[in-house]
Amino acid sequence: MTTHKTRMLIVGSGPAGYSAAIYGARAGMEPIVVQGLQPGGQLTITTDVENYPGFEDVIQGPWLMEQMQKQAEHVGTRMMWDTIVEVDLEGGSPFKAIGDSGDEYIGDVLVIATGAQAKWLGVPGEQELGGKGVSACATCDGFFYRGKKVAVIGGGNTAVEEALYLTNHSDDVTLIHRRDELRSEKILQDRLFASEKITPLWNKTVERFVEGEDGKLHHLELRDTQTGELSTLEVDGAFVAIGHAPATELFKGKLPMDDGGYLLVEPGTPKTEIPGVFACGDVMDHTYRQAVTAAGTGCMAALDAERFLATLEHAAKIPEPAE
Ligand code: FAD
Ligand code: NAP
Repeated sequence: MTTHKTRMLIVGSGPAGYSAAIYGARAGMEPIVVQGLQPGGQLTITTDVENYPGFEDVIQGPWLMEQMQKQAEHVGTRMMWDTIVEVDLEGGSPFKAIGDSGDEYIGDVLVIATGAQAKWLGVPGEQELGGKGVSACATCDGFFYRGKKVAVIGGGNTAVEEALYLTNHSDDVTLIHRRDELRSEKILQDRLFASEKITPLWNKTVERFVEGEDGKLHHLELRDTQTGELSTLEVDGAFVAIGHAPATELFKGKLPMDDGGYLLVEPGTPKTEIPGVFACGDVMDHTYRQAVTAAGTGCMAALDAERFLATLEHAAKIPEPAE
């Protein structure tokens, strides 16, 4: 077992973790990033990225994350290929984390950037056609289906918002829900039902995403939840919107979370309830969930971390008052 000490320990290597590292390294905090099972984060499982600022042409998600990692390393970040399995936040700074490797990580500040994962249906064709017609993010991929036929699967706020968003690109949006009643807020339902571009398809589950001859999604195989009947729906794009799961298991009982398991922070900041522990990116944001917002909050976490350490170090220099 090796102990790694740093002023700034970052857990997670998506846009939030890498951005925190870039700012942290440049501020002299010599960060360590523990990368986890998905080095580079969610963007490594997508192809085209067209909304991350700075690039005239479409770029590839894995390439973007490789660049961010190299940039973070270039300014002095140490990358660790390990996954944190335990954290000790009691007693305040310094914070301790244990890796799957058995190594121990000690950081004067802790930046949590463990992200969130879209929930998938787990049916045949879904993973195989990821990026080839199947997606879990309309804001990210909707643009690629301009003028095409698309479907959204789910009945909550996310599904309804995704369907409404897709009407910016498509006149033919089908919302597929397993019941005949939506879970989403009424105001969103009103907008959905008012849209001539959206057709709800009730009591249906997707049994299979079926590939066409061109290797892309061709149609969905559906089952009626009432009658068991099978049917098909031809679509160019299908957006699975059945919720997200933030990676916060490690912090249960240690940091406050909302009902969905997202870490709670002081509004408008990445500060958790524990001084010196910051949360950034999708792990604390169930609303925007974009690479650029994750990077932005990663930057904020590093700036606040620097201020926290400066205050701590200043306090340590002040001599105790004489008795
Ligand atoms: P993530 O990218 O989720 O990274 C989390 C990191 O935490 C990972 O590195 C993981 O290994 C690590 N981790 C988790 N648990 C542990 C642990 N216990 N120990 C150590 N490390 C851990 N956004 C856009 O802006 N544009 C797009 O075009 C776009 N396309 C997308 C396409 C797809 C298919 C998906 C799924 C998402 C897409 N997004 C897009 C959303 C974007 O990817 C996320 O908003 C962004 O990646 C969130 O960044 P993050 O740093 O918060 O977390
Ligand atoms: P959600 O509210 O949990 O809804 C998930 C939806 O997916 C439900 O309709 C559910 O069906 C369906 N579903 C789940 N598993 C399924 C499966 N295996 N097959 C088919 N359908 C499945 O998730 P969400 O919509 O992502 O919202 C999560 C949280 O974020 C909520 O608190 C929501 O209010 C919030 N949110 C808010 C906003 C906003 O305020 N604008 C926007 C987005 C999200 P059932 O209904 O049958 O269970």
